[in-house]
Amino acid sequence: MPGMEVYGAEERKEVNDVLETGALFRYGFDELRKGMWKTKEFEAEVTKFTGAKYAHAVSSGSTAVTTLLAAAGVGLGDEIVVPPFTFVAPIEATFLAGALPIFAEIDETLCLSPEGIEAAITPNTKAVLLVHMLGASADMDGIMEVCKKHNLILIEDCGQAMGAFWKGKSVGLFGKAGSFSYDYFKITTAGEGGVTITNDELVYNTIAQSSDHGHTHEGNNRGMEPHHIMGFNYRMSELSAAVGLAQMRKIKSIRDANQKNKAYLKTRLQEIPELTFRTKVDVEGDSAATLNFFLPTSDLAEKVISQFAEDGIAGAAYWFTNQYHFINQWDHIKNLSFPAKLGVHHFGAPQDYKNLQLPKSQDVMSRLVSLGIRATWTESELKELGDKMVNAIKKVIG
Ligand SMILES: *Cc1c(COP(=O)(O)O)cnc(C)c1O
Repeated sequence: MPGMEVYGAEERKEVNDVLETGALFRYGFDELRKGMWKTKEFEAEVTKFTGAKYAHAVSSGSTAVTTLLAAAGVGLGDEIVVPPFTFVAPIEATFLAGALPIFAEIDETLCLSPEGIEAAITPNTKAVLLVHMLGASADMDGIMEVCKKHNLILIEDCGQAMGAFWKGKSVGLFGKAGSFSYDYFKITTAGEGGVTITNDELVYNTIAQSSDHGHTHEGNNRGMEPHHIMGFNYRMSELSAAVGLAQMRKIKSIRDANQKNKAYLKTRLQEIPELTFRTKVDVEGDSAATLNFFLPTSDLAEKVISQFAEDGIAGAAYWFTNQYHFINQWDHIKNLSFPAKLGVHHFGAPQDYKNLQLPKSQDVMSRLVSLGIRATWTESELKELGDKMVNAIKKVIG
């Protein structure tokens, strides 16, 4: 993954700045920190790159989603539309907030579809938690139309989509707020970390306060700050922020390299007429972290994955059978297994999770093969990979 691939002297320099002063905390300690505010600088880089008015860094992409739910006023007993294909974190965040997820269909965009959302809405639906999967934006024209028509609050989990734009606008800025992950596997990493963006000052304040025990961060006596709402500790450390800051300064070059490498491989795979590709990708606005293609059948997709493994092609994923990304493997969720009582136990699930019918999502996911794009491939590596992939797929398709 690109973030970890490009880790180097720039990250070490930023971390060393923090180690020199020992100012590990993001707020206060003005004298000790000698003018170094890594978390603030990281947030400033995020606003500059995304075009958001506000950014607030937190401890992870998971806790970032929790702050989005709070800012959207989604809590106990509220129904919220979610996708069945997502890293599991936003589903967990929904349950832990006491809210009730309603699973809706995705389509070949690999994200919730406008029709899928519309079909899942009930009179009790309050919000949509959209997840922009695998580095590119969902179909924002269609989704905004549905949200407006039904007066639904939109929040965006862009955990895998830093660098993704839809018609010039960054993901995360279409609804109330959006969140990104900086864990070790993401396009830009802080080791662990997350950040939220929004154009709404009140939403920003709620996020910032809820991620720090309600602190308003006014004045310079932390213990005497007013508190209007309850919060918790989802703060980012200056050490993580230092890494994230250096990585944000590389996002454009990562994206450029990804786009170039992905375009080459896609052109190669287009030699094979049986393959189709993720739909509605805004090519200019693609973070290009993954290349996604469909085989005509699930059987062929499984065979391609095995052939890739046999031929030493690294970085391919078959998300359909992944334990943490697709609903088919989420027995713990369908059984509502948790050590304590959640909102869903009290109110009952809004859907029969064990017998969900999501035929479109099943079809799409069972035929999908994804390849992680590296920003650091050389031209000869890329050519060799293209040859190997084309040969492997041709062997399978016959
Ligand atoms: C990675 C990810 C998260 C969680 O981020 P962490 O930083 O690992 O907590 C949330 N949502 C999506 C879509 C992700 O890919």
